[in-house]
Amino acid sequence: MDDLSAASRSKEARAAAQGKNAWVKPAALMEDAAEERPAAPARLDDGDPASSPPPLFCANHPNRETLLRCNKCNKPICPQCAVQTPVGYRCKECVRGQQDKFYTAGRREQVLGYAAAALAGLLLGGAAFLLGLFMGGFFGLLLAFFLGPALGGALAELVWRGMGRKRARNFNLIAALIVALLAAPFALLSGNLFVGLLLVGMAASTLYARLL
Ligand SMILES: [Zn+2]
Ligand SMILES: [Zn+2]
Repeated sequence: MDDLSAASRSKEARAAAQGKNAWVKPAALMEDAAEERPAAPARLDDGDPASSPPPLFCANHPNRETLLRCNKCNKPICPQCAVQTPVGYRCKECVRGQQDKFYTAGRREQVLGYAAAALAGLLLGGAAFLLGLFMGGFFGLLLAFFLGPALGGALAELVWRGMGRKRARNFNLIAALIVALLAAPFALLSGNLFVGLLLVGMAASTLYARLL
């Protein structure tokens, strides 16, 4: 006999002794009492209906029974309504509230931030043009490889300040695209495509990562 059934049957036996479950036969009671293990864990002892919690129903789907709760507001949620976050399952409302607190840049700040990204794209384009023009070949690629991340970090700072050090949804992706799209044509113009595009690619991906 396994722990679970031993525990629940001995529970029934105890309940019967107290007159709660009159249907348990005395013979079974004796047998179970003899088999009772002293180390049966208490948490498996769920035979008593009074101690088991009432069933939960999803807050958005009243006829769906669930075992999940949002770990922030404690609202019952079904698997479809749950969002898995690094800190556990949460309801969509709590996730959205968290994001609104995080993305605080207003319209004005976003306009300034993306204008700064456009300026950053032109600056990067100029750098890519000059590098491609004067430093071709292996040395140019090497320089682009090391200059790109440094330049990207500086341009990320420019965008970050332009946006008043606030965030908006996907702004790092949008800023990186603006920078890359404006800078790439200059890389093509320089006559040294690989050096220019390597610089632009390294700088734009660094900018994307810095603004996360
Ligand atoms: Zn919640
Ligand atoms: Zn639901």
